[in-house]
Amino acid sequence: MIANGVSHRPDPEQAAPWVRTLRTTRRWFMRRTGLAGLLALLFGGGALRAAADGEAPGALADAFAGMFQDQYKRMSPDDVQAALGRIQRNALRDYDREIEVRADPPKPNTVYGYAINLSKCKGYRKCVDACVAENNQSRDPAIEYIRVLEMDLGSLDLHGGDHHYNPDLVPREGKFYIPMQCVQCDNPPCVKSCPVEATWKEPDGIVVTDYDWCIGCRACMVACPYWARRFNWNDPVLPSDKINPVTHILGNRPRPKGVVEKCTNCIQRVRRDREPACMEACPTGARIFGNLLDPESELRYVLEHKQVFRLKEEAGCEPKFWYFFD
Ligand code: SF4
Repeated sequence: MIANGVSHRPDPEQAAPWVRTLRTTRRWFMRRTGLAGLLALLFGGGALRAAADGEAPGALADAFAGMFQDQYKRMSPDDVQAALGRIQRNALRDYDREIEVRADPPKPNTVYGYAINLSKCKGYRKCVDACVAENNQSRDPAIEYIRVLEMDLGSLDLHGGDHHYNPDLVPREGKFYIPMQCVQCDNPPCVKSCPVEATWKEPDGIVVTDYDWCIGCRACMVACPYWARRFNWNDPVLPSDKINPVTHILGNRPRPKGVVEKCTNCIQRVRRDREPACMEACPTGARIFGNLLDPESELRYVLEHKQVFRLKEEAGCEPKFWYFFD
């Protein structure tokens, strides 16, 4: 039994390749029909969606209803429940795996922030592996939200950093390591660049994406100064036994081909009072995540007592992500 009262029986018709293609047809449709198509989706979608959202819908009905699904922030609670059900059924069809998709809202009085002690980071990249496993990232082509840059000691030239480093042992003499991921900007240029409002900043500071609304134009990737967004060029390859079945609709739910994805600080975990997977996996304790509004948090202690700095301050994005050396 899966949460949200959605039933999950295997669909006998499964998802034929053309039905899977139909799920991303909103992008195809809008590219070819322009304003007329947009108006049809906006004003004709409700009736068609209601017709398709019947009892125990099949793969085709789900694909059709998904095509006319509204942007997440405009959905009613019933619309959200229907969308969660569709994602769960599609995961069963595509990956033969039952998953739970939640829509946990932001917690009150909470704005998340992150700090990394670069003196402790040894370049093991355990955070990268944990992130891939937790967030259901495609294994082929491999998509990774975290890049760990191997840097020359004494340099902070990020463009000179190497994230493909592969020595027998780390850390290497004369090097240090900087993990980079989405810094959840307080003034996020990716949000401003999105022409369809598929990405936005939540009240807890997490910058999220509606993966069913993204049209894959990649403007956000160009706008992001932190190289934090990744494009799904192909249908993600995700082995059934590797799927993390605990997901959030704005986070690690399986994503379709043709959308831009990113780190959400593990929204599916932190909104349930768990640490991000990267922090949990770090063997050296270099990562400190917490609530910026909590004066008793370790994060606030670090910000008030260490010489912290942020990357690319000149870009004006106000990242909620700090670094320091001990
Ligand atoms: Fe957006 Fe990039 Fe900032 Fe993340 S780091 S919020 S993707 S601009």
